[in-house]
Amino acid sequence: MHRFEPCLNFIGGRWREPKTGQYGDNVNPANGEVLGVWARSGPDDLDDAVRAAREAQAAWRLVPAPERAKVLRRVADLLRDRKDEIARTLTMEMGKVIEEARGEVQEAIDMAEYMAGEGRRLFGQTTPSELPDKFAMSVRVPVGVVGIITPWNFPIAIASWKSLPAIVAGNAVVWKPAEETPLTARAFVEVYQEAGLPAGVLNVVFGDGPVVGEAMLHHPGIDVISFTGSTETGRHIASRAGANLKRVSLEMGGKNAITVLADADLDLAVDAILWSAYGTSGQRCTAASRVIVEREAEEALLARLLPRVQALRVGDGLDPAVNVGPVIHEEALAKIDRYVRLGVDEGARLLTGGRRLTEGPLARGFYYAPTVFAGVRPDMRIAQEEIFGPVLCVMAVDSFEEAIRVNNGVRYGLSASIFTRDVNRVFRAMRDLDTGIVYVNAGTTGAEIHLPFGGTKATGNGHRDSGQAALDVFTEWKTVYVDYSGRLQRAQIDNN
Ligand code: NDP
Repeated sequence: MHRFEPCLNFIGGRWREPKTGQYGDNVNPANGEVLGVWARSGPDDLDDAVRAAREAQAAWRLVPAPERAKVLRRVADLLRDRKDEIARTLTMEMGKVIEEARGEVQEAIDMAEYMAGEGRRLFGQTTPSELPDKFAMSVRVPVGVVGIITPWNFPIAIASWKSLPAIVAGNAVVWKPAEETPLTARAFVEVYQEAGLPAGVLNVVFGDGPVVGEAMLHHPGIDVISFTGSTETGRHIASRAGANLKRVSLEMGGKNAITVLADADLDLAVDAILWSAYGTSGQRCTAASRVIVEREAEEALLARLLPRVQALRVGDGLDPAVNVGPVIHEEALAKIDRYVRLGVDEGARLLTGGRRLTEGPLARGFYYAPTVFAGVRPDMRIAQEEIFGPVLCVMAVDSFEEAIRVNNGVRYGLSASIFTRDVNRVFRAMRDLDTGIVYVNAGTTGAEIHLPFGGTKATGNGHRDSGQAALDVFTEWKTVYVDYSGRLQRAQIDNN
């Protein structure tokens, strides 16, 4: 008997068993307990979901946007009522510490409130026509059916970034959550259902990425794919969905750095490094996995940083005294450890951590010791590739210019941070750091929902989640001309 009921698909407003009859296990990374099972669906289940979405969208697009927004407002209220319970579930199935899990649910609440406001905005433009007795405007219209594919590291926040703007704009959604976090996905769907979202506007199909996700890329009934996850999977999605002329929005990996200049407040920088590098066990796309420090401040920074890293408490995220939870699964643990061995082989100095933790109850979960490397060269693989774990690479540089070069010298471009008291360098850094997000005197994490979120280079493909920018992914511009002159008027010709 499992602790939770099976996570079934939600199609056309009803919970449905998968046509495959197959299920996968949902494992708590803190202790290996099987919490429950999720529907291991197939393409037929996806077909049903897309059909339900298309039917529902035909009516939903005609509901006035301020009415659509009322559902979002109720979503915010219901999430607030269930905040602690959903946060606990989230911690149990993906491992982040409970305080962060609460913060993540809050992010979904904030997004629901913000996007509810869009119900009375969704601004278009009116502009004068070049001809007399003629009116010109552009309006946002829904794209149709949006396919959402999400990862496990922010199972409700990322789903909220994508589903809420899609729905308020008049689209219907088919969502494939990550297989590691089905309970959080189910809770979010229950909230939408209780909030009164009409049947079929949001559908969830659980399943394997290469099966259900892959089928979404080819399904003619899906117009947009919005994805967050690894760059490798994102590249695959872009090529397949692009070949089918779907709009594709991708948020992918990061190799984010915190630059600490010699004039910085080092204690503040250390606080930020700890939070950015080891929060969510380093499994955030915005996690800091590199510190670039001016050589003259390196020793002082490391002297402050190391005892703080060694004092971090690792354990089950449900324990409020714990700072760092487990990583998501055994394969993640093995990947992190491979990178650490590689770092040692490449000649970096392992200052602390660098091993799986198996003492006492930790043996049953997937725990890795918070790790610091120093003496890292920018061309080492540990300084270039996304490790997605609690591993930090410290690199010394000789100038501000070199720091910027090292920051930019990776294939990713999500988040960057700089600590300095020099206002001139702050503004140069704001200009020259080639990432989608820049923080000054703060770590690399902590995005707020009303600003665009996303990155450059291999992190993204030019779109943004969050803020007003999200609406560009989920709406088409429709340009409308109304000629009330009563005669044929030819633009560019009759008036020139
Ligand atoms: P993936 O990118 O493979 O998974 C993200 C989502 O995509 C999941 O829902 C997954 O399904 C789905 N998916 C997988 N294959 C396909 C496909 N062929 N077509 C459509 N959808 C697909 O990441 P992983 O979870 O496997 O993690 C691997 C690595 O990716 C991590 O170690 C980390 O480096 C990086 N990553 C980065 C994230 C970020 O925020 N930048 C988030 C997550 C991972 P499912 O997994 O359920 O089968």
